[in-house]
Amino acid sequence: MDGATIGILVGGVGAGIVLLLFAMSRRPVKCPGCGREQPLRRAPASMEQAMWGGSTCEGCGANLDARGRIKKKK
Ligand SMILES: [Zn+2]
Repeated sequence: MDGATIGILVGGVGAGIVLLLFAMSRRPVKCPGCGREQPLRRAPASMEQAMWGGSTCEGCGANLDARGRIKKKK
């Protein structure tokens, strides 16, 4: 095993750990409007939701961003 191979392995493991931490930091968000927990995996209702996350509350229909804050309607 040469230095380049070790470098690739270390880089891969590091990237894997970062991805794992990122995945674990995703907690279900609760709607500030009605307190309903939003599912982590949901079908995006719009292109914006597919790109940036966020969801539409099933309880009250509020438009939530990825951190569970209500976005004001334009
Ligand atoms: Zn709600």
